[in-house]
Amino acid sequence: MGLLCMIVGHNVNRHRVWHDSLNFRTNCERCGTPLLRDTKGWREFDSAIDSDTSRSGHPHSEDGAPG
Ligand SMILES: [Zn+2]
Repeated sequence: MGLLCMIVGHNVNRHRVWHDSLNFRTNCERCGTPLLRDTKGWREFDSAIDSDTSRSGHPHSEDGAPG
């Protein structure tokens, strides 16, 4: 996590939000930390408690794709 994220919180990338069948997901625009939106709002994705086989993978592969 970046220092700025520790101070002001993660910067939710609202342009890249997707749904994994259970929750809306995205990444922090600044540091790339996976984020999940639960009933209270956006928080860090915690694989220890958020792992669920019914979650779908990201619909788009963004690895190395320009634009
Ligand atoms: Zn961040």
